[in-house]
Amino acid sequence: EHVNQERIDSEILENDSHWYLSQPISNHDIVMMHQINKRTVYLQAFYQSAPWWIALLLTLGLIFTLIKLKQAFSNLKEVAYVDQLSTLLNRRGFRNNIEQVLATYTRIKTPWVILMLDIDLFKKVNDGFGHETGDKIIISISNILRNNIRSSDLVCRWGGEEFVIFLYNTTIQDGEKLAQKYRHEISSTIRTPALEPITVSIGIAQASSGESLDEVIERSDRCLYFAKHTGRNKVSTKSSF
Ligand code: GH3
Ligand code: MG
Ligand code: MG
Repeated sequence: EHVNQERIDSEILENDSHWYLSQPISNHDIVMMHQINKRTVYLQAFYQSAPWWIALLLTLGLIFTLIKLKQAFSNLKEVAYVDQLSTLLNRRGFRNNIEQVLATYTRIKTPWVILMLDIDLFKKVNDGFGHETGDKIIISISNILRNNIRSSDLVCRWGGEEFVIFLYNTTIQDGEKLAQKYRHEISSTIRTPALEPITVSIGIAQASSGESLDEVIERSDRCLYFAKHTGRNKVSTKSSF
């Protein structure tokens, strides 16, 4: 009972700057007062936890820096791999993306096809309606190409008014069907301001086993040349006359 009495009567008082712990002893004859400076306690707590605060701040700083670095890197990659006018892959981006796919190809022998597409008589369009009109036509064609491929295919703006399309797991017959679809859609939807249809020519080559990307592109370019020299606005799988 004596002990209980002591516990009940002990209390903490406080003012702005201190806590006072009062503890009756010797059966309430004496009260022990303990004065604790609040500021000292807070400072003590702060100093003791300082290493944790510093570690937390450093970690957050590090995470922030890494996120910023990653963003900067992906922006850089975007600029390096993407053509600014059409937002299609540029040559570098195309090669970079295709490497992984072709590494698989050499293992499992999936057929693939390259289409090379070039706008017909485009110089005349620029000369007749200005470079800006020409640019808009390039963008429209880019969108048609982009909207008609599967996720395993790649479209690239190869140069000025030339595009290269990589079709994975595709035979030359299927490549030709897609090329005809492109040719038809472009000539039926894209027109000059004088309403003349814009047409394209397309060369197609299917990779034979062991052939490199550059060799297949070279062959599709010869097929394109054939299409140009046999009347334009056509698709060709033939590379010689
Ligand atoms: P062909 O049917 O034989 O392909 O004739 P072409 O006039 O299309 O071929 P040529 O190679 O003589 O000319 C291509 C033109 O494409 C030259 C250039 O003015 C134009 N060109 C290339 N890049 C761009 C571009 O980024 N914007 C615009 N507006 N025109 C471009
Ligand atoms: Mg050209
Ligand atoms: Mg051309």
